[in-house]
Amino acid sequence: MFKFHMPTKVIAGQGCVLENQGELILGKHALIVTGKSSGKKSGALDDVIFVLENNKIPYHVYDKVENNPEINDMALGGKFARECGCDFIIAIGGGSPLDASKAIAVYAANEPKENSGFELYDIFKGNYKNKPLPMVAIPTTAGTGSEVTPYSILTLHNEKTKKSFTCVDSFFKTAFLDGRYTLNLPLQVARNTAVDAMCHLIEGYTNKKASPSSDYMVLEGLKIIGKNLDKLENGNFDTDSCTELLWASTLGGIVISQTGTTIVHSMGYQLTYFKDIPHGMANGYLLCEYLKRADKVRVANCLDALGLSSLDKLLAYLEKILPRVADFTENELVEWSNISIKARNVASCPYPVTQDLEIEIYKNSLL
Ligand code: NAP
Ligand code: ZN
Repeated sequence: MFKFHMPTKVIAGQGCVLENQGELILGKHALIVTGKSSGKKSGALDDVIFVLENNKIPYHVYDKVENNPEINDMALGGKFARECGCDFIIAIGGGSPLDASKAIAVYAANEPKENSGFELYDIFKGNYKNKPLPMVAIPTTAGTGSEVTPYSILTLHNEKTKKSFTCVDSFFKTAFLDGRYTLNLPLQVARNTAVDAMCHLIEGYTNKKASPSSDYMVLEGLKIIGKNLDKLENGNFDTDSCTELLWASTLGGIVISQTGTTIVHSMGYQLTYFKDIPHGMANGYLLCEYLKRADKVRVANCLDALGLSSLDKLLAYLEKILPRVADFTENELVEWSNISIKARNVASCPYPVTQDLEIEIYKNSLL
């Protein structure tokens, strides 16, 4: 038995925001949630403001979202939305602003207060008195697939890690995919995010919860990434390759909405939390060591779709495009395994995972 649930409407193609103005407007007063530069550099912010002004919809811009959004900042975003009287959200950016929007949408509708029945960390319960504000998404990176997942991954300083919440109303109503918005990505961000999409696809395919519907999308997504491996190495992107990579990323998001991720992600969160290593790069460091223990036929199918002849070839490719940006000690890796072994997605792995195995995967990947 398997279930398939993906309620987000996807509108894809060049000019999709300007040509579908009505789909962008979900209320009377918009909050645009974006990062410091992603909205402006991608060109998406200009398009959105044009549509809102053209339709006489008042709006406020919240462009304070940092990479790897932190939970307290999300509550501040929610307060800002309430104070401005915003009743819907337009999220523009990479996974950070998209995930931030999902949390801001919850906090805008449910003010966290001590002893009120809804406090800051209750967001992880996934069940709220008031529905989160409705949202649409415009991704400007091609990696997280957050535009089609119900997950929002937040940084928690008290637990020294990142943790995701999810709720039925955290899916975006509509996702607008315009490959031109990713054309100006810095090359290393384009590489990191593409590797994140690759990991979502492969972790979905090797996951205990893989199904015929997710398998189909995985192989399609990996073929697209495989076709663009050369561009990701050399950086000679054009609108077509950006459009393709964005679609592969969205496919990865649809896949993990059904299957979830695996230890590649939960172990990767520690590399991001403690060493500030970008999300996709962190996953890419760990992927091959995880795959060495997975079902050989499934791994071979993934490699085949990517157009690579062996796991060693994938490792060599990832080493080429993902530079080492930090040093690690054995003690750090043991400490991180104490945190990552508690993650929910340990249970989704295709083989039994112990803390010792996580330490081994960390060591083989990073030392
Ligand atoms: P990101 O943190 O959103 O962005 C990385 C960098 O790229 C930022 O400096 C950003 O600038 C810049 N940027 C974004 N779009 C740009 C553009 N078009 N042109 C120029 N610069 C641009 O990176 P991400 O990898 O997309 O997202 C990572 C986050 O997503 C992590 O927190 C991760 O945990 C989460 N995630 C969520 C899911 C999910 O299912 N919800 C899945 C995987 C990962 P500014 O910050 O200045 O705007
Ligand atoms: Zn990811």
